[in-house]
Amino acid sequence: MLPLPWSEETCTSHRNPKKTRTRFPCPRCRKSYTTKSAVTAHFKYDCGKPPRFECPYCGKLSKKKFNIQDHIRHKHPSKPVICNTLF
Ligand SMILES: [Zn+2]
Ligand SMILES: [Zn+2]
Repeated sequence: MLPLPWSEETCTSHRNPKKTRTRFPCPRCRKSYTTKSAVTAHFKYDCGKPPRFECPYCGKLSKKKFNIQDHIRHKHPSKPVICNTLF
């Protein structure tokens, strides 16, 4: 894909968003996030916790329901988007 001719001049606040963006690493597992609130939420609710959600079609596990729903939409597009909660 070619860059749009006006993107460099008009979007000065969004220049190199990926390269210059500050990352917030988790102190426990070193996984990094783009916002402080994201790493805080990860540390409190996600980090070190076993996965709670399971794909009913292939057994894939995830800590986030959204990830399983997204996984089903991509990997099992003909199936209804449901998700097993393990506990
Ligand atoms: Zn972590
Ligand atoms: Zn699956």
